[in-house]
Amino acid sequence: MLDSVLIWADKNRGRWLEDLRQWLAIPSVSTQQSHDADVAAAAEWAMLSLRGIGLTAELISTPRHPCVFATTPASLCPAHAPHILFYGHYDVQPAQIEDGWHTPPFKPTVKNGDLIARGSSDDKGQVHAHLAALLAWREIASELPVRLTVLLEGEEEIGSINLPTVMEQRRDQLKSAQALIISDCNQFAPGLPALTCGLRGLMYYQMEVQGPAADLHSGLFGGAVANPANALVEMLARMHDGQGRVTLSGFYDDVADVEEALRRQWRSLPFTDDQFAREAGIKTPFGETGYTTLERKWIRPTLDINGLWSGYQGPGAKTVLPARASAKLSMRLVPNQNPQKIATAFEAFIQQITPPGVAVT
Ligand SMILES: [Zn+2]
Repeated sequence: MLDSVLIWADKNRGRWLEDLRQWLAIPSVSTQQSHDADVAAAAEWAMLSLRGIGLTAELISTPRHPCVFATTPASLCPAHAPHILFYGHYDVQPAQIEDGWHTPPFKPTVKNGDLIARGSSDDKGQVHAHLAALLAWREIASELPVRLTVLLEGEEEIGSINLPTVMEQRRDQLKSAQALIISDCNQFAPGLPALTCGLRGLMYYQMEVQGPAADLHSGLFGGAVANPANALVEMLARMHDGQGRVTLSGFYDDVADVEEALRRQWRSLPFTDDQFAREAGIKTPFGETGYTTLERKWIRPTLDINGLWSGYQGPGAKTVLPARASAKLSMRLVPNQNPQKIATAFEAFIQQITPPGVAVT
């Protein structure tokens, strides 16, 4: 049976591609309110698609973006089929051509065998592979081999704010699931699938450094008034040492050690720094001394500036001493690090490194 399903799935490659393209073309950017209607349209698309497969699908509304929820009707699977829960998300990160895209991010383009679009690998592409598999199975067999519950959210990229409430509401339908499938990760390489057994966590901060009550003239006041932009970059520069390590005290105290056997396995993967540098568009990888690139990416905690703004940013010059400067920062945390402990340490660290003349919130 599986062979016939796979053959049929293969034959319909063009159809899957067209189908996925439609979904990818919907800019379901969950973080930007201007895209709320698109997020809703992407949810609707997924719901209709699940209905097309024969599942009972609905939208569960939340204060922000809806969840798509689907179950297998009794007629579609054997009575004692195993119950599988499938999770995915249909929202995407913002993307603009100015960010360095070679093709418009919401105009899916096939290039050298790759489908390039925002969401093609996070997470619409993966979700769609499952939808296509279900449809293929449905076409060839009269019923599905499993009882399925599908839960797709539209807030994964903004912290899954309402997912716990939805899960609580649907507790009875979810709790009998014997396995959960999440396809929101990567293949290691073409033809080399990967089972992801852990991911780094995320802590996110926005900080604002405040100086004078209003923007001042740098000729009249510069040198005599603390400049929040100067203060901010000075503080940010103090967050790492010359070895690429985060200077926040206690940051590495609880970091789990990775067994040598596992590190050895990682070193045997088909991976080179050169290839990584090419993919990242950099000359050479960078990071914490003493660790390989994969270790830096997978098991070491990090702190990164994600956004930075202050002062005059229009064309030409304007001699402003800005009233405030802001940054967005995130930390990737690894097993055994305690986010609460890190947050307390980070807030104390910020106070400690705040230069005189400015205030930080
Ligand atoms: Zn994702």
